[in-house]
Amino acid sequence: MVSTADTNSCGIVPRLTQILRFRSKKGTLRAEAQPTDLFDVAFKKLTEDLPDIDPATITLATSPTGKQEPASRLLGKTVQKLGLNHGDMLFVSYTDSAPRAAVEAVTAETAPQMTAAHIRDATKQLPVDDYLEKQDGKIKRQLSALQQRKFGSRGMGEDTLPVDPWDEEYLKEQKIKHMSYHAYVKKLNSQANKKNGGGYIAPLNVSDFGVSKSCTGAHAPWPEGICSRCQPSAITLQSQPFRMVDHVEFAESGMINSFIEPWRQSGTQRIGWMYGHYEPYELVPLGIKAVVEAIYEPAQSGEYDGITITEITQADGQPQPPHIATAEACGLVPLGVIFTDLVDAGNGDGSVICKRHADSYFLSSLEVAFAGAMQARFPNKSRWSPTSEFSSKFVTAVISGNPKGEIDVSCYQVSEQCEAMARADLIEPSINPSVLLVKEATKTRYVPDVFYKKNNEYGRTVLQGANPQLPVDYMLVTLTHGFPQDPRPLFSSGLSSFPVENRELIGVTQSPQALGKALDSGSAGGAVSNFHLLSYIQSMGVLSAEEFQLLAKVATEKKDEDVSRLVASEGWNNLLLIIQ
Ligand code: ZN
Repeated sequence: MVSTADTNSCGIVPRLTQILRFRSKKGTLRAEAQPTDLFDVAFKKLTEDLPDIDPATITLATSPTGKQEPASRLLGKTVQKLGLNHGDMLFVSYTDSAPRAAVEAVTAETAPQMTAAHIRDATKQLPVDDYLEKQDGKIKRQLSALQQRKFGSRGMGEDTLPVDPWDEEYLKEQKIKHMSYHAYVKKLNSQANKKNGGGYIAPLNVSDFGVSKSCTGAHAPWPEGICSRCQPSAITLQSQPFRMVDHVEFAESGMINSFIEPWRQSGTQRIGWMYGHYEPYELVPLGIKAVVEAIYEPAQSGEYDGITITEITQADGQPQPPHIATAEACGLVPLGVIFTDLVDAGNGDGSVICKRHADSYFLSSLEVAFAGAMQARFPNKSRWSPTSEFSSKFVTAVISGNPKGEIDVSCYQVSEQCEAMARADLIEPSINPSVLLVKEATKTRYVPDVFYKKNNEYGRTVLQGANPQLPVDYMLVTLTHGFPQDPRPLFSSGLSSFPVENRELIGVTQSPQALGKALDSGSAGGAVSNFHLLSYIQSMGVLSAEEFQLLAKVATEKKDEDVSRLVASEGWNNLLLIIQ
């Protein structure tokens, strides 16, 4: 049953489309391919039909009991060459693995056999990345002073040329300090992968400052042996021209007011995890904004000059903290961390001291080291990286005094180089907030030379050695932040409807009584639309996973039919009994 499909580009020779079948735990899937197509075409379809499966773990066999071969062995060969015919069935196996393990499987096990193009086509990114990479990002502009200068004298027609999303003059004019991540990828792609020219090269370069563990040199593996091939080369730090996230939007301003309440009442500092989602950000070409829908305050001991977090998130073997399960059920991802550094100015007018400015520091060396470690822990999935990961979208927000003495928010990321230094265990904070230390070499820690650029006393740019002292400015990337003009927060019940967690210090306690009061206070759907209330119910462990998922749906979508199903469920009725 070979069907004739579309003709080739000459329009003369008809080509034959074959159907290949794949049998997996999830049933039989089909993919079309021409005999002369690479097997990659069918494999891409398979991975699209199995979106939750890590492609690097997929193995294939020609019979149910046949030898399973890694899919990567079949890639790069034509369907014909592999001897596959129309209607052939391949038997698919794979392992359900955690995202982190998946990446290790890609890089360590199968990377040599997998092509850069295959990793590009098989990596699952965030929806916002899939959307933005399909946009060309060209800036269609009215005739501006900039364009008049650039093109005006060259006659008509050219003054309407669209500008690339990475155009330096445009970004400068718009006061955009860093180009967006997708503008950066497009810029690199335009340089690395010329249209119609040669094979595909992954444009992003992942910094790796550790000793290579797979060195083929004739010596014992590190730390017993090392050679010029496996030792990392010297690091030259540069201020990063791009940023992974451009803007942080707090879904409503009440969220910030609520978060600084413990400081107002006790004078101690506060830290929280920000949860939400990513969206395109229109004010920066191909930009991304992190939209914060909730701030969860983990167990912590706040002091006047700092905070200690007593909760460790996502530690192996530990029960999942309630906020992580709650965020997942609501479709939210961890966006970053937010903390206060507030000191009342003593003027009696609510003004605060401005500690962080151009002549002191914006993030302290301790905070930069922390941000580097957190970013390394929350890697960004990228189709444009040879390892399927590149940098991170995890942001760090600080609430402190601005130069006018007002309470203000500032948002940062640290550079991809800083993450790589954190991964290789090369940096540590110093007592000077504006200076990071490069760690000393030990038997098991190889420390390359680190340099950064500096203007000397003659105004010339010179390379400066950074072992051991490293200015934190080189690591920082600044983001903008704001609030929507027309707030439509995901959680609509209002923050005052239920106590925020871990605030015993200021006499605020979550309890079944408080929950009962909150549930009585509003409409069925509206009353539960509060992240803190959901996390509290999650921590009680009364609802089944399905019931909690339904509750999260009620809280975020507020549909009557879901409310009826929830009210009729066993778990919900048990919960009501406990409250009474
Ligand atoms: Zn070596």
